[in-house]
Amino acid sequence: MKNTIISFMMAVLLIMPGSQKNISKIDLHVHLSDEFKGTLDERYADAAAQSRKMGVTFGIAEEICSRDKNRNDSLLALCASAIKKYPLYLGIQVDRQNWQDVYSKETLKKLDYILEDALNFPDKDGKIIRLWEKGVYFDNPEEFMDRYVNYNLKVLSDPITVWVNPTYLPDTLSKDYDKLWTKERRKKLIDAAVKNKIAIEINSRFQVPGKTFIKEAKAAGAHFTFGSNQHVTGIGEIEWSEKMAKECGLTAKDFFVPSRKILKK
Ligand SMILES: [Zn+2]
Repeated sequence: MKNTIISFMMAVLLIMPGSQKNISKIDLHVHLSDEFKGTLDERYADAAAQSRKMGVTFGIAEEICSRDKNRNDSLLALCASAIKKYPLYLGIQVDRQNWQDVYSKETLKKLDYILEDALNFPDKDGKIIRLWEKGVYFDNPEEFMDRYVNYNLKVLSDPITVWVNPTYLPDTLSKDYDKLWTKERRKKLIDAAVKNKIAIEINSRFQVPGKTFIKEAKAAGAHFTFGSNQHVTGIGEIEWSEKMAKECGLTAKDFFVPSRKILKK
């Protein structure tokens, strides 16, 4: 009888979310539509309903990053008050070079997390190249990689929570991913993420980073998150990320989980 009770308790512990064995199903890289016709409250209610249906907790990555600090602050305050009653995290994805100047410190402190990637890549003449657009091409891939690693190091020196779309390469270079992401380049970025306590996203949309990178990052003590990086359609779809976590032997303790700061005063 005693053994039966112990077995039962063990089983309960094993299926509890957040236990050491189970990695929580959380997608911190959910973008909602900008053209949503309803209220902010309805927008989050819809997302919460979809999250519940899928059994995946959503973190909404708002893309409010205009030039106007007051506008950004007031929009984010509206988001924070509307999202409170739903079981959703609230974060932002920042995408401009001087992003720290376009929010007040108070606003940033209230968010559950900040995402940044290196895909708005400044070229030698300062012009921003959107690396995810089709056909982005560099004459000298090795030279591009060195500049790209440096730009990623700049991103990893920012006060952010998660480095997203990590190690993404333009479509013209992706076939050479293993060759271009040399051990030395991988190590520079992993060391920076660990040192600055920035979690590394395992991104289902672009299927990055590779398995070797994830294993090396785990060995170095990095933390991870899952991200779909989808806009409305496909949000919460983190199957590839979960598969990679399993194949790389990650456990719950390897993951960053936000604390819903939004509920605190
Ligand atoms: Zn995104």
